[in-house]
Amino acid sequence: MDGGKTMYYSAGNYEAFAHPQKPSYADKKSAYIIGDGLAGLTAAFFLVRDAQVKGSHIHILEKDPLGGGACDGYFDPKMGYIMRGGREMDNHFEVMWDVYRDVPTLDNPDVSVLDEYYWLNKKDPNYSLCRATINRGESANTGLDFTLDKKAQRELLKLFLTTDEDLAYKKISDVFTSHFFKSNFWLYWQTMFAFQETSSALEMKLYLQRYVHHIDGLPDFSALRFTRYNQYESMILPLEKYLKDHGVDFQYGVEVKDVVFDTTNLDHKVATKLVVSKDDNLEEISLVEDDLVFITNGSCVDSSCYGDQNHAPDLSKIKEGHGSSFDMWKRIASQTKDNTFGHPEVFCSNIKGTNWMSATIDCDDELVPYIKKICKRDPHSGKVVTGGIITAKDSWDNWRCSWTINRQGQFKNQPKDRTLVWFYSLHTDVPGNYIKKKMKECTGKEIAMEWMYLIGVPEDKIEELASKHVNVTTAYMPYIDAFFEPRGEGDRPYVVPKGAVNFAFLGQFAEIKHDTIFTTEYSMRTGMEAVYNLMNVDRGVPEVWGSRYDVRELLRATYYALDRKKITEAKMNPVEKAILKKALKLVKNTEIEKLLKESKLI
Ligand SMILES: Cc1cc2nc3c(=O)[nH]c(=O)nc-3n(C[C@H](O)[C@H](O)[C@H](O)COP(=O)(O)OP(=O)(O)OC[C@H]3O[C@@H](n4cnc5c(N)ncnc54)[C@H](O)[C@@H]3O)c2cc1C
Repeated sequence: MDGGKTMYYSAGNYEAFAHPQKPSYADKKSAYIIGDGLAGLTAAFFLVRDAQVKGSHIHILEKDPLGGGACDGYFDPKMGYIMRGGREMDNHFEVMWDVYRDVPTLDNPDVSVLDEYYWLNKKDPNYSLCRATINRGESANTGLDFTLDKKAQRELLKLFLTTDEDLAYKKISDVFTSHFFKSNFWLYWQTMFAFQETSSALEMKLYLQRYVHHIDGLPDFSALRFTRYNQYESMILPLEKYLKDHGVDFQYGVEVKDVVFDTTNLDHKVATKLVVSKDDNLEEISLVEDDLVFITNGSCVDSSCYGDQNHAPDLSKIKEGHGSSFDMWKRIASQTKDNTFGHPEVFCSNIKGTNWMSATIDCDDELVPYIKKICKRDPHSGKVVTGGIITAKDSWDNWRCSWTINRQGQFKNQPKDRTLVWFYSLHTDVPGNYIKKKMKECTGKEIAMEWMYLIGVPEDKIEELASKHVNVTTAYMPYIDAFFEPRGEGDRPYVVPKGAVNFAFLGQFAEIKHDTIFTTEYSMRTGMEAVYNLMNVDRGVPEVWGSRYDVRELLRATYYALDRKKITEAKMNPVEKAILKKALKLVKNTEIEKLLKESKLI
């Protein structure tokens, strides 16, 4: 491989503000990027900005007619507004902000996407005034407490401290008992991050560690930030424009069926050919070692099925274990004897456990009073509305629904008198509270009726409002939680697997340490690491925010996990009390005592 240092991590301004020098070999490189999601776009960005490869040498191959992948948001003239998801984001998405500080907004080329986001969230910070409802739209008054009893607190601490290796193939239900599942903590956690009880305990631990600094912002979402519009308009389009302005070649409607490798020498694996399907024709693209290939292996929105106001999604074409991204990955994985290309079947073979469903409910002003009553804000103010999801606790044993309204209009061209609600359910296979059908079999109208019932619309008005005052699109996503499937070492390929010469894996199913999947940041980080590795870019990749190593954050988190009580007030038996007393005596007049006081633990 061409010279330079191998990729390394750094923290702090010195590396963050420096510009790497152009690698001497940059001009002879070209790149094929499979997938126009955030991961692929980020790889293209770092190739252009930091590796300084010519834009015209970079080709993004996307199977869909539109880019953005999971980060969607568009208006379909036949169906209506479609957003499969909405993104809760963090100030410590280090790679994301490294990218967006240099990407101009579409509205003002002098303002970066980061600045727009920063100013907006300063002026209009996010927080929720009602996190959960019960009894059809009454506040569940969950407050700020986690209601973890002593047993549940211990289980949580134990998980926090367990090694990755010991959590291999364990489910969340393997490490917690019913005490934990009854707590507010689980309600907040599950609905915010879309974990299921059968999801990976390892993944949950990684989340706990990664966001330990946000624990106090968990109950009311004051930890979160959102973009002005849906993320397709606020994030994908500006990034695509930046890349197009730099000459990057975007090819839509091109499905990559296979990447062919020469793996005869396991220490020198080379991608030699792409097999692509374009306009129903199979074509081959030959590669040399200077052609880099970036592969998004697996996608959480693979095989999504859409429904509309009057139609349930057609699920008949879903084939468990299959989908464009997983099929491609399976073909790739079968080509090396040393298992370094991962095990796609671990993630895509359990649709029952990995699916859930969302809906975009486009409503007129008849629904506004019911919305206002719950979230205590006006959806037409242009500011934060619900401030994060509101979970309908009464639906816990049914669809397990939550809904949210982000700043309106969510779309730049959205009519002023329309409000877009994003609604989602973790259980698609059981009857609803009002609509006694499985969610996955429901039309958009029926889903809107269920939502209206849960927010307290009088029953005699539901039919009329759902028929004449809303338009709904729905998305069934069979693999949306696929990355949460219990897994072990080697199931996800490393971004640059051992021996890889000219290729890297990207996205939610590529392995990087410490960061958490199901985030924009994770995908973007794989894009940066892939480019810095393959191009030997001589600048540090920002390390994943390390609050788990910050004793101040850990003590603060303990205070909140105890529902804002001093350690001396926690329930303890006489022996524990005696030990604590002795420990506090030992730390008297030390920095430790100071820290304990600052975190309010004593
Ligand atoms: C409902 C939902 C809610 C979310 N909530 C949050 C959140 O709150 N916070 C947060 O940070 N993140 C959230 N995310 C996650 C975030 O949006 C994704 O992790 C990220 O956008 C994934 O980007 P990616 O590039 O890795 O993959 P994708 O976006 O899946 O992109 C993969 C691309 O590859 C294409 N492709 C697949 N196979 C092939 C092939 N064979 N040939 C050519 N092209 C192919 C696909 O069409 C797609 O465009 C959410 C996502 C969803 C869907």
